[in-house]
Amino acid sequence: MSTQEYFDQGELVAVLTAQPLDRTLDYKAPEGGCFLGAFVEVPLGPRKVLGVVWGPGQGGFDLSKARSVIRVLEVAPMREEMRVFLGKVADYTLTPMPAMLRLATRAPGLSDPPSMRKIYRLGAGEPDRMTDARLRVLEVLRDYGGLAFTLKELAEQAAVTSSVVKGLVKQGAVQKEDSPRDLPYPHLEPDLPGKDLTDDQAAAVAKLQAALRTGDYGTTLLKGVTGSGKTEVYLEAVAETLRMGRQALVLLPEIALTAEFLTRVEARFGARPAEWHSGATMTERRRVWRMVGQGDAQLVVGARSALFLPFRNLGLVVVDEEHDTSYKQEDGVHYSARDMAVLRSAICGARVVLASATPSLESWANAEAGKYDRLDLTSRFGAAVLPDMKPIDMRAEQMQPGTWISPSLRQAVRQRIEKGEQSLLFINRRGYAPVTLCRACGEQIACDHCDARMVEHRFLKRLMCHQCGETKPMPETCPSCGAEGKLAPVGPGIERLAEEAEATFPEAKIAMLSSDLFGSARALKAKIEEIAEGDADIVIGTQLVAKGHNFPKLTLVGVIDADLSLHGADLRAAERTFQLMRQVAGRAGRADKPGQALLQTFQPEHPVIRAILSGDEEGFWKAEAAGRQAAGVPPYGRMAGIVLSGPEVGPVFDIGNAMARNDMPLRQIGAQVFGPAPAPIARIRGRHRVRLLVKAPKGAPIQDAIARWIAPLRLKGDLRLTVDIDPQSFY
Ligand code: ADP
Ligand code: ZN
Repeated sequence: MSTQEYFDQGELVAVLTAQPLDRTLDYKAPEGGCFLGAFVEVPLGPRKVLGVVWGPGQGGFDLSKARSVIRVLEVAPMREEMRVFLGKVADYTLTPMPAMLRLATRAPGLSDPPSMRKIYRLGAGEPDRMTDARLRVLEVLRDYGGLAFTLKELAEQAAVTSSVVKGLVKQGAVQKEDSPRDLPYPHLEPDLPGKDLTDDQAAAVAKLQAALRTGDYGTTLLKGVTGSGKTEVYLEAVAETLRMGRQALVLLPEIALTAEFLTRVEARFGARPAEWHSGATMTERRRVWRMVGQGDAQLVVGARSALFLPFRNLGLVVVDEEHDTSYKQEDGVHYSARDMAVLRSAICGARVVLASATPSLESWANAEAGKYDRLDLTSRFGAAVLPDMKPIDMRAEQMQPGTWISPSLRQAVRQRIEKGEQSLLFINRRGYAPVTLCRACGEQIACDHCDARMVEHRFLKRLMCHQCGETKPMPETCPSCGAEGKLAPVGPGIERLAEEAEATFPEAKIAMLSSDLFGSARALKAKIEEIAEGDADIVIGTQLVAKGHNFPKLTLVGVIDADLSLHGADLRAAERTFQLMRQVAGRAGRADKPGQALLQTFQPEHPVIRAILSGDEEGFWKAEAAGRQAAGVPPYGRMAGIVLSGPEVGPVFDIGNAMARNDMPLRQIGAQVFGPAPAPIARIRGRHRVRLLVKAPKGAPIQDAIARWIAPLRLKGDLRLTVDIDPQSFY
């Protein structure tokens, strides 16, 4: 990397753009010169595009032909640490730099000049009469010592309607003025009183804070059962980070979780942090991006891509529910936000906290190996105890065909209803039924574009493909044999289970929680709050409910099919089942009432089911680690998935075969290639998919070998190749 920090007007600079080119482009520095890392607008053909000054120009062409940078944008230049980070992620994930830059500039309107909007602050006038509402507005403005608010923020903070604020403006008690749109975030105060911590929590906090004060990189695995206060603990790590004048980032796996978390941040630090996720408005995203860059956002709460925000002084990254699969991005740039959080922190000297009740085997192994520190919170906060877990042996239950709630589970739910407590019935399948079968000819209705069955969604009154999202109305007759009235649902999804529950417990109030049943994150959040307040006797939920929500009145969890994810070909099937079952079970008994989890299973002796029931987590991980070590698979070996796709299956296989034959670069590092084979989902959106799997010893330079392996390929026409380093799912 260049050491030259500043370029005079007319000097040649190399500019990285987000255009799909394999190199930087040379331009002359504009009037007034520019800094290394400056965001600039440059001409490209007839267009103007965004770029970053990446170093001195390469030259080697007629300099009189060089065009000039149009202008330097009014945003903080990209810091060296960010440039290094993007380069390393590009190398790790085998992603071209332009795609990395796109990831790092995902805020709209970065090249717009800051626009104006109305803000409100304390005025000199006195209101004609004082009301409680008016007093609250003035108090908020006084408390924040001259800080300005938007109308919405002020009304929200003071819990008044906007007309109260407008009334005060008329009387001069509040002043309205124009201000640039991207305002700094309200100050977070780390020294407001926190909760009284338990001894366990206080010890963990002390260790984290001491580690933070060194100002060096390090990763801590914070393991604690659900409800043990991990959030309380890492909030104190955030507090210490803020005291040190550094910035903190908290990553959450699910937007629906942010609402509860924001409320907790506000209670702890007196104001709300910046939010970064797909649900945030464009203006808000732009504001976050800019304020993070100039250090005027102390804390960001966000989804995985928040990791690519231009922090000025990042001191802490928390990855909550670190085992969650949604941290792995599986389109565009294939990256694991958890792993890249560690990389970024190592570059900028930040602390990483990986929090989970059921860590990934990767993190567990890193802690075992001493690469990560490990802190354990072993008991639940207050009176809450871990639920008692029991199997329901489905081989011994009398089941009516087409039903899934066993008599034993039915009885347990009934007891809860009588006591006014909540039950959760968990099934990890969206829709009404996973299969629609013709009882005349045996045809199963499939998607026209994918190698997948269509799933009936009765709520939407359609069949849906969960791969490509294609929907069609439920046909009246079998599309294959034309028989009428013979199409039948097979197997349960959440909607069908809800139907069974309604019939079985007619007196109960039933709530369904599945990501596809809500039009917006707000609607989902409202439903979750309703349930938390007790407005449901039975909650029927998919995976969504496993993720950290607090339902204090919930005392029973019934898992409809504990065997469901045990049988995947996926190397992580056991780990996933273990995590999911323990997470779901953790929803029960979070307040003062003890909880119970009942797992319906046909194989209560299966080692994974036994490990789940016995709660012997260390035992489970040790056994799982030994198995993976013996097989040389992650985290004890390295893997990469290569997917080739195209409209015709023949040419796709031809390339796959050629790659398998020419595997010298892989053999040189001791790696093996498996395949080509049809991918588990062999067709998506009409494209045929063929997969190769690369397996290498731990520590082998797999990216470099793969780069050399694929470099000679010339993909013709519509053929595509994607590389997924450390694949999490195999599809
Ligand atoms: P986790 O993140 O491990 O699931 P939380 O931090 O959400 O646990 O804590 C579970 C519940 O217990 C929350 O409602 C939290 O506010 C409460 N809690 C945890 N520790 C304390 C404490 N020291 N004082 C008061 N409440 C606490
Ligand atoms: Zn499809």
